[in-house]
Amino acid sequence: MCKDLPPLERAVQFHGHVCPGLLMGVRVAEFAQKHLGVNQDIDEELVAVVETNSCGVDAIQSILGCTFGKGNLIYKDYGKNVYTIASREKNRAVRIAQKYRDINSPESIRYRELNSLSQLTDDQEAEREDLLALIFENTMSAPFEELFDWQDIDFVFPEKAQIRATIRCAVCGEGVMDSKATESVEGLICKACLLAKEG
Ligand SMILES: [Zn+2]
Ligand SMILES: [Zn+2]
Repeated sequence: MCKDLPPLERAVQFHGHVCPGLLMGVRVAEFAQKHLGVNQDIDEELVAVVETNSCGVDAIQSILGCTFGKGNLIYKDYGKNVYTIASREKNRAVRIAQKYRDINSPESIRYRELNSLSQLTDDQEAEREDLLALIFENTMSAPFEELFDWQDIDFVFPEKAQIRATIRCAVCGEGVMDSKATESVEGLICKACLLAKEG
């Protein structure tokens, strides 16, 4: 995945836009690489547990290579900007939590205000660009400890993803991973068919 690009650009290309959340994710990914002494994941050497599904996670996926598809991105729906990054090779894990700041900077309040408008005038668009440039500068240059707390933690590594057999659902006829199929009177059926029966 666009391996030759610098991390920040890789994240922006993957995510589609630059935004404050993505930049925070870039800081997390770069810190984790340095702290653990690891490179971008190729084959599930790294595991990321993310407690949010917001923009920053795309930096974790694109820079660290912990992705939804490889199964080494574990999502917990906690709504917290907390990221645990673990390396099997180093047998180490670090938990990184964005610091809570109850006083938002005026520029980020204004930025969100502008972003929530459905249509921006040219002036507002220019203002938004300027604010983003300022947020970019602040986020990328701030000392890491101003933005995040972190600690090394014990981590139980999940098993590496298995390649499972695919069986044929007895109702819809589509293929389904055997471990996800359910026994029913019709035979083994997929989750969608099970839910349809129950619904
Ligand atoms: Zn975003
Ligand atoms: Zn089915």
